[in-house]
Amino acid sequence: MDHQTLLGTTFACDCGRQHTVPTGAMHYSSEAFDHLLPTVEAIPGVAHCLLIADSRTYAAAGQLVEEKLRHGRAAVELFLVPDCEGESPVADDKTKDLILARAPITDLFIAVGSGVINDLVKWVAFLRRKPYLCVATAASMNGYASANVAASIAGLKVLFHAEPCLALFSTPEILRDAPFNLTASGLGDVLAKTVSSADWKLNHFLFNDYYCRFSVDLLKDLEPVYLNNPVGIRTQDPAAMRALFEALFFSSVAMTITGTSSPASGGEHLISHTLDMLAARDGGRHDLHGRQVGVASILMAALYEKVLAIECPVFGEVPRQVDEHFWGKLTPVVAKEYEKKLPRYRRVADSLSRPGTWQRLRELLRTDMVSAAKLKNCLAKAGAAHRIGDIDHFDAPLTRDKLLAVVRNANQMRERFTILDLAMLLGLIPDALDDLVDGWLGG
Ligand SMILES: [Zn+2]
Ligand SMILES: [Zn+2]
Repeated sequence: MDHQTLLGTTFACDCGRQHTVPTGAMHYSSEAFDHLLPTVEAIPGVAHCLLIADSRTYAAAGQLVEEKLRHGRAAVELFLVPDCEGESPVADDKTKDLILARAPITDLFIAVGSGVINDLVKWVAFLRRKPYLCVATAASMNGYASANVAASIAGLKVLFHAEPCLALFSTPEILRDAPFNLTASGLGDVLAKTVSSADWKLNHFLFNDYYCRFSVDLLKDLEPVYLNNPVGIRTQDPAAMRALFEALFFSSVAMTITGTSSPASGGEHLISHTLDMLAARDGGRHDLHGRQVGVASILMAALYEKVLAIECPVFGEVPRQVDEHFWGKLTPVVAKEYEKKLPRYRRVADSLSRPGTWQRLRELLRTDMVSAAKLKNCLAKAGAAHRIGDIDHFDAPLTRDKLLAVVRNANQMRERFTILDLAMLLGLIPDALDDLVDGWLGG
């Protein structure tokens, strides 16, 4: 399938919905920036555009972008987001307010940056009701064309709705020169799809939740490129890097057209979000999103394998209350989410105890499953995080005990049902968890 033909279109899908892809173009080549000026001039009413970057992304691509736009009809201005206590800016309400207060009025925003800058500009552009373009400076995450902003508000990790970018630009040279950890993080984030789409199928099967096969299949041709050639990511092979960048982009398209993060986010993301929330709560630092997600994805795949090996399931009880000792001052917000999920456990146990249902679920989940071994091999060979100790948490390697506690509690922070919940019902969490973690993420 030529994915590019989908961009900017509305089409009827087999899932029964009409899908609209608001992002009209994705330019990835050495000449990608030659498309900037024509893109800006094709947007009606743009007399002024505002580049937003931080000092790093400005050096990586901002300067180049500025030059390309200088001779156009629209005035170009630059706003540099200041560093936060000597480090890269963060996507939080404080920084958003600072941009709103200090950045000049504009007709078009141009985000130069992948993670934080993209989230901040998406947020500000949405509040100012102006379109934005994204210039990616790293293949580090899958938010480019998603409508979601991932930010912290008053210290709490939240996801909310805005508008995706009108067009995305990057060059192989810029992605190659980005810090390698960012690329490895992008790989971890995109590999999550192999387990998160199983979680999505699980929700469809159990609760008849909306599911779109088409958006899961969007990455079908791209996934084997990096899964089968992870060394290509480490050595920055052009074909592997292109596949990774396109997969990140189309993973964000999948979230936008379905209106949910389900195609790209399941139990593994809850583990990463929990690590982030603990860091925010206690004023420490956490690792890159995709590095945490990648490690957690290996564990989710291993959990799926354990679950699918069960012939005759026996369902037990899950805790009725969240662990105050673990969540501390986050207990009230998490408890509110968990309460919504509690009634679902009984329903799941009842429905999966009906004759034939368990076998049907196993067959359904087995198709398209990528093994834990394959995920681990891919991350390891690519030079990405793949063990507990690879994850930085409070400026030290994450400990086994902390990870175990996170995995036992992460399911409580969102209503969404994931493999973590199924494993809880089956008693695999906590009974098999220590062995799985030692076997897959130790060493
Ligand atoms: Zn669909
Ligand atoms: Zn992610």
